[in-house]
Amino acid sequence: MNDAIKTILLWMVIGIILISVFNNFGPRRETEEKISYSAFLQKIKQGDVNTVTISDQNVTGKYQTGKTFTTYLPMRQDPVLLKDMLDKGVIVQGKQPDQPGLWVHLLNLLPWIIIIAIWIYVLRQQTGGGKGGAFSFGRSRARLLNADQVKITFSDVAGCEEAKEEVKELVDFLKDPGKFQRLGGKIPRGVLLVGPPGTGKTLLAKAVAGEAKVPFFTISGSDFVEMFVGVGASRVRDMFDQAKKQAPCIIFIDEIDAVGRHRGAGLGGGHDEREQTLNQLLVEMDGFQGSEGVIVIAATNRPDVLDPALLRPGRFDRQVVVGLPDVKGREQILRVHSRKLPLADDVDVSVIARGTPGFSGADLANIVNEAALFAARSNKRAVDMDDFEKAKDKVIMGTERRSIVMSEQEKKLTAYHEAGHAIVGLLVPEHDPVHKVTIIPRGRALGVTMFLPEGDRYNYTREYLESKISSLFGGRLAEEIIFGDSKVTTGASNDIQKASELARNMVTKWGLSEKVGPLTIGGQDEEVFLGHSITRHKEVSEATFSMIDAEVREIIDRNYKRAERILKENIEKLHAMAEALVKYETINLDQIHDVMEGKTVREPANWQSNKENSGKAKPKVKEKEKEESAEDKSLNANEGAAQADGSSVN
Ligand code: ADP
Ligand code: MG
Ligand code: ZN
Repeated sequence: MNDAIKTILLWMVIGIILISVFNNFGPRRETEEKISYSAFLQKIKQGDVNTVTISDQNVTGKYQTGKTFTTYLPMRQDPVLLKDMLDKGVIVQGKQPDQPGLWVHLLNLLPWIIIIAIWIYVLRQQTGGGKGGAFSFGRSRARLLNADQVKITFSDVAGCEEAKEEVKELVDFLKDPGKFQRLGGKIPRGVLLVGPPGTGKTLLAKAVAGEAKVPFFTISGSDFVEMFVGVGASRVRDMFDQAKKQAPCIIFIDEIDAVGRHRGAGLGGGHDEREQTLNQLLVEMDGFQGSEGVIVIAATNRPDVLDPALLRPGRFDRQVVVGLPDVKGREQILRVHSRKLPLADDVDVSVIARGTPGFSGADLANIVNEAALFAARSNKRAVDMDDFEKAKDKVIMGTERRSIVMSEQEKKLTAYHEAGHAIVGLLVPEHDPVHKVTIIPRGRALGVTMFLPEGDRYNYTREYLESKISSLFGGRLAEEIIFGDSKVTTGASNDIQKASELARNMVTKWGLSEKVGPLTIGGQDEEVFLGHSITRHKEVSEATFSMIDAEVREIIDRNYKRAERILKENIEKLHAMAEALVKYETINLDQIHDVMEGKTVREPANWQSNKENSGKAKPKVKEKEKEESAEDKSLNANEGAAQADGSSVN
């Protein structure tokens, strides 16, 4: 629970205790005798009463004896009572009704106290409990890193040389804005870093600050977007004010798409807040001259959704693309990250780089880290190639889960499924080469067929995509051919989904269909705002829609049939590979070749020792684990969520 609430609750408890203590130890009235109204009248008649004090309906009085009593008058006025009392010589006093005690006041306040507590709690949540405390929500939430706090330099960023070149200019400018102007240089104001996640955009922005040795304000686009209208805009204003005081400096807006989306997109308005924030950002960017020495760097992986106004001259007019690294880039990134690790002699970074097409810098950093962990776990002195290989598999496919115990039947089914993928993949044209097939469960997958592209691919041909669709169907088809329709599992649903997605994209996005032709339908279909996609779809007629459907279906049918034909024609290879898989659980490239050439499958190099290890590692079958694996099988796809672009896992 939140500290603020805790404190308030604590004070409330203390208060209540104090009040009840005061009430109990306050003026005691124990000596007072409580009597009924009729008894009271009786006493008056008998002349026993000396004085009474009446306050509203409460009566306290004194007997002639000096003892006190209290009673309570009925609502109905009794006109005779006063006369009777006066007749008997009772001294009658009136008194203002008692003021409610302190604690009654507090009790009345209680709901308010609770409301205020909740209010403060909500505000705290909103402001992330930052140093500003509860009432600073209009202030900028940018974090300021001082010049000496940014330790990252260009040497930490690898594999994106062009991007580095482009931002180096900013460093020159920040180091001495005056000199830059004297020489007539055009002063940059905003730079937009564009690229997929994990490619080092944040890193690059920090490196600019680190190289130039200037302060670095960092804020995420989502920090501007608030529940309260106007807060985002005032945050923007505040951030620019602060930055101007620190100039020369860098403002870094990470994930600017959160605030910089198209204005006016979406249904039913309700995006006023975001629009106001965006407008304020535009105003600020127009307002300052580059000469003030503030440079705004923003990063996004969705430049397509940005409001065009942001990209106009004088704003983020310069775009720097930070793309996925190529082979050489990956090698350099791996080197940067393994700089501080003791590497064994057999480590060849270029081999790892070649085996990781489509990986981002973040993925590669992750591999190096995992490799170091594997080495540490087995108490090695240096990280060797084996560790890297394991780390790569883990990052691509998820952790091996040897503890899942599959029944013989399940194992056989998975073996045929994976063999089906592999054999179709091997026998269709232009398919990525198979690298490894395994039926050891990994992550959420029960088995994995790994394909490794030879080089980096930037474009996909129709042939390539159709082959991929074929090999995706291979798994399910092999199950069907061997075990019959009734035994087919849900394990292939992910394959089928991927295949349909590919086919649909071929027709609607990449213009790779003969009948529909080069037509893009739906545009950026990940556009979140409903408003957009609705208007876009009007471009497409009903007739085109049904043509698309027919075309998608045809691509799928064609490749399904092709996969079926290949498997039926090569059924003995399918059997051989599945048997090898059941026996060895993982088969490597050599073994795959043996299968395809019809030879007996060789044993892998260190198979015996591996087998002993895994035998030892495997615990006795526990009922609970069995349940878990059964559940996994039914709920999850046969293949992992760890589908890394480029290195396809089928
Ligand atoms: P982005 O902001 O593009 O999503 P980050 O800059 O946050 O990516 O990258 C995350 C991490 O991945 C970095 O901290 C770094 O360790 C690693 N990394 C990413 N790209 C590179 C690169 N080009 N060179 C070195 N390390 C990188
Ligand atoms: Mg980032
Ligand atoms: Zn599959």
